Amino acid sequence: MIQRAIYWFRHDCRLEDNPLFHQAVTECHEVLPVFIEDSRLADQTTWGFVRQAQHNCAFKRHMLMHLRAQLESQGSVMWQAHGDSVELLVEWCNELGIQRVYAETVAAEEEEREIHALRQRGIEVITLFQSTMIDRTLVKPILTYFPMSFTRFRQKVEAQTSRYSAPQLIPLPHLQIAQEWRNSEFAHTLLYTTLHYSLDPRTSLPVHNGVWLTDSKQVRTYITDDYLKGGYASSYKATRNQLFGTHYSSKWSVWLAHGIRSARTLMAYVNEFENQSGANESTYWLWFELLWRDYFRFLFYQRKTNLFLFQGLSTDSSSTPPRFNQSYFYAWSHGQTGVDLIDAAMRELSHTGYLSNRLRQVVASFWLHEYQGNWRVGASWFESQLLDYDVYSNYGNWLYIAGKGTDPRGGRHFNIQKQTDEYDPKGYYREIWLR
Ligand SMILES: Cc1cc2nc3c(=O)[nH]c(=O)nc-3n(C[C@H](O)[C@H](O)[C@H](O)COP(=O)(O)OP(=O)(O)OC[C@H]3O[C@@H](n4cnc5c(N)ncnc54)[C@H](O)[C@@H]3O)c2cc1C
Repeated sequence: MIQRAIYWFRHDCRLEDNPLFHQAVTECHEVLPVFIEDSRLADQTTWGFVRQAQHNCAFKRHMLMHLRAQLESQGSVMWQAHGDSVELLVEWCNELGIQRVYAETVAAEEEEREIHALRQRGIEVITLFQSTMIDRTLVKPILTYFPMSFTRFRQKVEAQTSRYSAPQLIPLPHLQIAQEWRNSEFAHTLLYTTLHYSLDPRTSLPVHNGVWLTDSKQVRTYITDDYLKGGYASSYKATRNQLFGTHYSSKWSVWLAHGIRSARTLMAYVNEFENQSGANESTYWLWFELLWRDYFRFLFYQRKTNLFLFQGLSTDSSSTPPRFNQSYFYAWSHGQTGVDLIDAAMRELSHTGYLSNRLRQVVASFWLHEYQGNWRVGASWFESQLLDYDVYSNYGNWLYIAGKGTDPRGGRHFNIQKQTDEYDPKGYYREIWLR
C-alpha cells in the first residue's frame, strides 16, 4: 500500500461517484485532498479581459465550502490555495514526503501541460478520464474511426452499447489524515472570502436564499424532487428552446462543469424517474443532450490540440483569423450592439454567468457573422463568463457554429430577426434585460 498521496480536485469536485478519488483512498494509507485556484485565472486574455469573472469566483467559494464540509464529515480536511498549480503541488509533495498525485484527466492543452510538468518534476501522477456519461472503454470501438457527425456517433451508441455507465456508489472508508495536515494554514484557507458579490435575482439558475445550489445533497434534492418529480423533464423537449425561467431546461450544466454531480448519476436519476413515471420523448432528449456533452469530450480526447487553433478541424490551414476589432468586441460583450435580442442576452450572460442554449447559439452567430469576429475571442469571452464553463462543450460548440468543427452543414448563421420573432415574440425576455 502506498503511504501518502495527494488528491487534486479539478472539475470533479464531489465524493460520490468519483472513481479516481475512491481509487486513491483505497490504494493509499493517507490521502490529502487539495483544490488549487490557479493564478493564471486572474490573468488577462490576449484580448484584454480577465479570464474569470467575479461570479465564477463567488460560485467556487460556495462550492468549496460544501466540498470541504463533506470531506470533514468523512474525517478528512481539504487544503485550498491560490497560486501556480504545478509549483504548489511539487512544493507540497517535497515537504510532505509524497510521491504520488491523483488527478482526473482533462483532455485540453493547459491541463495536460500541468500533468506533463508534474511528471517531469519526478512526481507519479495517476489520471483517469472520468467525466463522461458513458465510460470510454464502452465506446472505444466506435471511436476508432472518429464519427465526424454527432448523428453517426449517436446511432452507433444506440446500436451498440448501454445508454450510460452505472455510477459507482460504493461508500467511502473513514479517511485517514495526518495531524500536521490538519494543522496547516492551507487546511484553514478559504478562497475568495473577501469577495463582495450579490447574485442577480433575474438569473434563470435555481437559487436558495439568494445563493446558487452548490451543496451536492441540495443539488440532488433539487433535481429529483423539484425538477424530475415536478414533471419538467417530461416536457423538456417542448420547452428547452425557451429563453428564461428556472424550469424550461435542466440547468444541470453548472453542476456538471464543476463535477458537483456526475453525468452518470444524473442519468441514473432520469432512469429511475422513467421507471416510476414513464419515459417519453422529452426524457429521451435529456439523454440525447448529455450524449452531445460526451461527444465533445471524446472528440477532444482523440483530437487534442488542433481544436484550439483558429482553423480547428478544417483542412484549410491558410485561413487567418480576422483582425480584432476592439469597438465591436466591446459592443458585443457589453450588450451595446443596438440589436435588442443580442444586447439582452449578452447582459444576462455578464450579469448572471448563464445563458440559454438558444441564445448562446444566436449571440455566437452574431459575433461570427454580423461582426466577422474570431471564434476564439467569442469562446474566450464565454470561458470568462459562464458559470458552467466547460472546455469541451464551450470550444466544441463554438467550433461547430463557426463551421470548423464537426458540423456536417459547415457552421450556423442565424437570422436574428427570425430568432427574435420565434423565441421572444412579445418581447418579455428583452424587457427583463433592457429596461
Ligand atoms: C456557443 C456555445 C457555448 C457553450 N458553452 C458551454 C459550456 O461552456 N458548458 C456547457 O456545459 N455547455 C455549453 N454549451 C451547451 C449548452 O448551451 C449548455 O450545456 C446548456 O445551455 C446548459 O443549460 P442546461 O443545463 O439547462 O441544459 P439542458 O438543455 O437542460 O441540457 C441538459 C444537459 O445536456 C448537456 N448539453 C445540452 N446542450 C448541449 C450542447 N449543445 N453541447 C454540449 N452539451 C450539451 C449539458 O450538460 C446540459 O446540462 C454551449 C453552447 C453554445 C452554443
